[in-house]
Amino acid sequence: MSPVSRPARTAVIGGGMAGCAAARTLVKAGREVVLFEAGEGLGGRARSWHRPEIEPHVGINLMYVSFYPLMTELIREYGLRDELVKISSDVYIVHKGRPVPLSSDSPLNLLKYPHAPLADRFRFLLWSLGEVRRRKQLDLFDPVKVAPFDDGTSAAELGYRKLSREGFDTLLRPQIEGFWNFACEKISAVHARALLAWLGGSEFYVFRDGMQVLAERNAEGADVRTGHEVTDLQTVDGGRVRVTARPASGEPVTETFDDVVVAVPAPIAAKLAAALPQEVVGAGTRRFLESQEYEPALSVSFLLDPAGLPSHAHIVAGGPDDPPLRNMITYPRRVRDEQGRPVDRLLVFAYPGRAVTRRLLGRPTEEQFAEVAPLLRTLWPDLAAEPQPFQIAERPFGFPIPAPGRYRRSVEVMRNQGAPVVFAGDYFNSPTTEAAMLSGVRAAEKLLGTR
Ligand SMILES: Cc1cc2nc3c(=O)[nH]c(=O)nc-3n(C[C@H](O)[C@H](O)[C@H](O)COP(=O)(O)OP(=O)(O)OC[C@H]3O[C@@H](n4cnc5c(N)ncnc54)[C@H](O)[C@@H]3O)c2cc1C
Repeated sequence: MSPVSRPARTAVIGGGMAGCAAARTLVKAGREVVLFEAGEGLGGRARSWHRPEIEPHVGINLMYVSFYPLMTELIREYGLRDELVKISSDVYIVHKGRPVPLSSDSPLNLLKYPHAPLADRFRFLLWSLGEVRRRKQLDLFDPVKVAPFDDGTSAAELGYRKLSREGFDTLLRPQIEGFWNFACEKISAVHARALLAWLGGSEFYVFRDGMQVLAERNAEGADVRTGHEVTDLQTVDGGRVRVTARPASGEPVTETFDDVVVAVPAPIAAKLAAALPQEVVGAGTRRFLESQEYEPALSVSFLLDPAGLPSHAHIVAGGPDDPPLRNMITYPRRVRDEQGRPVDRLLVFAYPGRAVTRRLLGRPTEEQFAEVAPLLRTLWPDLAAEPQPFQIAERPFGFPIPAPGRYRRSVEVMRNQGAPVVFAGDYFNSPTTEAAMLSGVRAAEKLLGTR
C-alpha cells in the first residue's frame, strides 16, 4: 500500500498585505498554510484604527488607486466593490506660507499654478506626457519592468535636469515627499518617473471598514495565528524549517514546516535570516535585507471645526527642505458631543517631516499631540480653530526607501531566492499595498516552482 501523501506545509511570517497575498496563492495551490502575525489583526501597515464615537469610524484608511491591477482583480473576485468609498484628491501645495491648489488631472490648473515658473509648468507637462507614453514599462509595482530604467540616478538629480530647482521643488517633490516622506535625493529617479506616468487621471478610493478586509479575505483558508511573533528560524534535517513563535501570553511554540515565506519588514527579516545557513539564504540576499532603509511615519490626528480647513484635501509642504509638518489630510466626520448630539467635524491627519517624526517616535502621546498641534499653522497659516487631539498611529517601518539602483538589486534577489525560505514585502518594489501583494504572490510562486 502506498503511503498517503500529505500536503506540503508552509509557514507565512507576517500578516501584512504581502504575507496575506502569499497565503492566498499557497492555499489556492493546495498548501497547508500557517500564518504567524505578531500584531492583533491582519493588514500590517495597511490596518486602520477604529473609533466608535466618530462616523465613519475608521482612520488612516489607505488609498486604493484605480491603477492597482492586482487589487482591482481581487476586489472584483471577492465582490468588495460596495466596500469602496471614492475620495477626492484635492492637492494644495504650500510654499512660502501660501496654499495653492494643484490638480494633477487638469493641465489648465497646472498652467495657472503660481508657485513654479511658467517655463517649468510647460516642461513638467511635456515630461509627464512623455512618461505616460512609457506607462507599460514604468510600472510602479513591478521591479522586473522598471529595473532596466534604474540607472543609479536619484529623483532629485533627474528632476533638477528636467526643471529648474524652484520648478522641481514646487511641482514634483511635494507630490512624492507629501505621500511617502522620503527625500527625493535618496530615491531612484524611476520611482518619480513611474509616478508621473500613472498619477494623471487616476481615481482614489478607501475601503469603508479599512483595507484589512482585503488582507483578511486573502488569508482565508490559512490557519491564522495572530499575536504570534516569530523569534527564530532554523533549518533541520531534510531541509525543513523550524519556526519558533512567541505568543502574546504563554510559552514559545515551535513547529516544523516544509518551507517558509518571510513577509516582515526587511530589518526584521534580516534578523530572522541571520540564524539560517548560507545555502538557504545567500550573501546577496542578506546584504539586500540588511541595507534596506525606512522612513518612519507618525500620523497624529485631530478633530477640528469644519470651517477651519478645506475638506477632502491633501495639504502638502512645498520647497526643498524637510519641513516640521509635511502634510495634512482632511476628511469630514460626524462626532457625538457630550449630550450625544451629532456634530460635524473635520478629522485631520497630520504627518510631521522627517526630523520631527524621528524625534517624536515612541514619545508619550500627550507630548506628540502638544508638539504637532501648533505645526498645523505652518501649513495653513489662517487656521483659527483649536485642534482637538484624537488618535495617534506610529509606523516605525513606515516607507522603505527605493534607493537608486535598488530595483535592479531586488530583481536579482527575487530571481535567486527559492525553497525552503523566500522573502516578500514592499521593500522589493514600492511602498504601496499593491506592490506588497505582488511581491507576496511572486515569493509564493517561487516556493511552488511556478516562477
Ligand atoms: C502612513 C502610511 C500611509 C500609507 N498609505 C498608503 C496608501 O494610501 N496606499 C497604498 O497603497 N499604500 C500606502 N502605504 C504603504 C503600505 O502600507 C505598505 O506598502 C504595505 O502595507 C506594506 O505591506 P507589507 O506586507 O510589505 O508589510 P507590513 O504591512 O509591514 O506587514 C508586515 C507584517 O509582519 C508583522 N510582523 C513583523 N514582525 C513579525 C514577526 N517577527 N513575527 C510575526 N509577524 C511579524 C507585522 O506586524 C505586519 O503585520 C502607506 C504606508 C504608511 C506607513
